[in-house]
Amino acid sequence: MPLDASSLIPELLRDHANSTAQAFLKDAISRAGRVAMVSSFGADSAVLLHMVAQIDRNLPVLFIDTLALFPETVAYQKELAAHLGLSNVQTITPDRAALFERDADGLLHRSDTERCCTLRKAEPLERALQGYDAWITGRKRHQAATRADLDRVELEPGTGRIRLNPLADWSAAQIGAYLDAHELPRHPLVARGYPSIGCQPCTSRVLTGEDPRAGRWRGTEKTECGIHFIGGVPQRARKADAA
Ligand code: SF4
Repeated sequence: MPLDASSLIPELLRDHANSTAQAFLKDAISRAGRVAMVSSFGADSAVLLHMVAQIDRNLPVLFIDTLALFPETVAYQKELAAHLGLSNVQTITPDRAALFERDADGLLHRSDTERCCTLRKAEPLERALQGYDAWITGRKRHQAATRADLDRVELEPGTGRIRLNPLADWSAAQIGAYLDAHELPRHPLVARGYPSIGCQPCTSRVLTGEDPRAGRWRGTEKTECGIHFIGGVPQRARKADAA
């Protein structure tokens, strides 16, 4: 029987109005049908990956390798997955023919970051999510004004999929405390001045006092990579809208 997202979403919100992220996540995974986690293996990712590993080490974890990542991220993905015992990490890459056709020289990010993110992130992820009823994201309200109203559960307009955002209400301090408490391996670039990590060409160091996401697409209005769709359209926010 197909998943009835319209009834499950309010049920999960009601049942977990006051529960922990871990309790919410465990129950949501058991009730939301075919569920995958999507992870960038970035600066905060170890928290949610650790929670998932405690619940089901074989849950599909989709890792989008844009083929423009820092080598440190690729190495960290392997290290962290092994550390947590995750046994079903699936690396998602852009379509080779589409890359050849639309970004043959690998420099599209210089002229059009929107089209580059669509090609290297949004389209591969959308393909990978076909067949799933729900996906787990690491989005948090504090990251941007566009995420200020983020619920733990939401319907993805246009696809009918459910998005689970267990850390929606977590602060940066809670993330740090969880990483410490569980002695989780850190992304090596965090200590080198990168509190938010995306593709190498579009991520720069952040100076003391700057917003943690200031190093993403520095000098542009872009703040989102566009892997979050509404009505099949990648959603992006302007930097001016970000907290
Ligand atoms: Fe391309 Fe930069 Fe987007 Fe990565 S973050 S997909 S390199 S525009």
